Amino acid sequence: ILDVQDVKKAYDGLEVLKGIGFGLRKGETKVLIGPSGSGKSTLLRCINHLTVPDAGRIYLNGDEVLDTNIDAMRARMGFVFQDFNLFSHLTVLDNVRICQIKVNGTEKAAATQRAHRELERVGLSDKADAYPAELSGGQQQRVSIARALAMDPDVLLFDEPTSALDPELTGEVVRVMQQLAAEGMTMVVVTHEMSFARQAADEIIFMEDGHIIEQGPPETMFTDSTHERTRAFLNVIA
Ligand code: ATP
Ligand code: MG
Repeated sequence: ILDVQDVKKAYDGLEVLKGIGFGLRKGETKVLIGPSGSGKSTLLRCINHLTVPDAGRIYLNGDEVLDTNIDAMRARMGFVFQDFNLFSHLTVLDNVRICQIKVNGTEKAAATQRAHRELERVGLSDKADAYPAELSGGQQQRVSIARALAMDPDVLLFDEPTSALDPELTGEVVRVMQQLAAEGMTMVVVTHEMSFARQAADEIIFMEDGHIIEQGPPETMFTDSTHERTRAFLNVIA
């Protein structure tokens, strides 16, 4: 469903992505791990052209992601940010339905119904009329997941969705993500939550210094990685 081919990106001569390729089948969850600065966020952002890659191709369902079709392509890729990125002046309900109305042209009644459904899915039915500032970080992140889900995306991209949260709030967000993975959502997740990676990932991709060093199922990666660098990283983090 998602095909990333030989993506490269440099900033002022500094090569951050040195030719990254991977594929994602419908219903698959891939977890992207690697040291700080290895290019994980840049790769996710290149997938939906929040950062425009210098080279390489990205296909979603056979359609190439291009500058000329980027609005339509972005509507098919949900992005969940580390810092939630909610509209602070809008209620939770409006946050979840606004893109459906503005981007997809969904009628208000249908968008509202869908918003309530997605809020229920992330356990926040009772917060529809609250403003983001009235919610905990974990609740805000779950709203942001509901907002992405309401667009009915082909793939969800998560960039360290729990790293801005206090440890006691991480679990509620991880549980929602585990549930989505179990329901067959197609996802790419950058995270340091190794419990999530072990439990929910079909495959783990280890990145370092702009390269994919190794990828494989969690059993292989955690127990008998053949790569010294992967083992060293996992020893520190897991
Ligand atoms: P972290 O785990 O800390 O989030 P990361 O793997 O997500 O790290 P990136 O954010 O992709 O890493 O950054 C990779 C490299 O690219 C870093 O050296 C960073 O300083 C550089 N970089 C990222 N964004 C920009 C930018 N907009 N302009 C210049 N350099 C950038
Ligand atoms: Mg990052």
